[in-house]
Amino acid sequence: MPGTTPLRFDIITIFPEFFQGPFEFGMVRQALKKNLISIAIHNLRDHTSDRHRTVDDRPFGGGEGMVLKPEPLFRAVNSIASQDFSLPACRTILLSAQGRRLTQDTVRELTDCRHLILICGRYEGVDERVTDHLATDEVSIGDFVLSGGELAACVLIDCIVRMVPGVLHNCRSNLNESFSRPSAATHPGDGIQEPATLDHPQYTRPENFQGLDVPPLLLSGDHQKIKLWRRRKALEKTLRNRPDLLEYGCLSEADKRLLKTEFEG
Ligand code: SAH
Repeated sequence: MPGTTPLRFDIITIFPEFFQGPFEFGMVRQALKKNLISIAIHNLRDHTSDRHRTVDDRPFGGGEGMVLKPEPLFRAVNSIASQDFSLPACRTILLSAQGRRLTQDTVRELTDCRHLILICGRYEGVDERVTDHLATDEVSIGDFVLSGGELAACVLIDCIVRMVPGVLHNCRSNLNESFSRPSAATHPGDGIQEPATLDHPQYTRPENFQGLDVPPLLLSGDHQKIKLWRRRKALEKTLRNRPDLLEYGCLSEADKRLLKTEFEG
């Protein structure tokens, strides 16, 4: 929002050039232009003290590969944190396959912070003292192993930025999307917290594409019916693709009724 301090991201990486590009498109670019966020990239090698600018070493106890050393990472984070950005609520996030898995709830929580320092690992990972004594959070973007934390940092920034007030043109458009709960208006008076689902299917013109029709209900102009149809489609898709999000037993009576409803759409 105009007048508020931009949400600040500091990224620590051994590949600063990696970030030439990902922030130059779409919402992140707009947010940077509107000064709603700022992003600074720090080369980990600038925080080394030896002639070879060494950032990694062999693992104690033996084994394959190299591990990022603690000293440059501590130095890098401390040098960023000691600059006066007048930004409280700073979190230092280590991107790691061993971290807490990123969810939309975590994204919402992080959007409230004004300053995030992101540490990108490489090779076999980082010295565990960084995880235990420097990072406030260890975050994984999913159950797979990347070769570095840079892509994960881009993913994290992208999903946080679109939640920052003023970034989405239509600020209601992130209320009804995957992993959000339906608005109270869908089931008025029900009074219970509905489970989060995937988004409902979307259609646009043409009405008929190669013989494939758009569901007629969406053209009816009956907004209440459309709202209910969308919730039902979202529930069906969630039950089909992500049943883990939605145990049938946990559905509200209103949602159960909705799943039994006949729609001409
Ligand atoms: N040996 C580690 C993998 C290291 S991969 C393990 O098995 O857990 C190198 C770096 O890539 C990590 O330090 C981390 O910064 C990043 N990375 C890999 N997978 C990731 C994931 N799923 N989420 C976030 N970062 C990841």
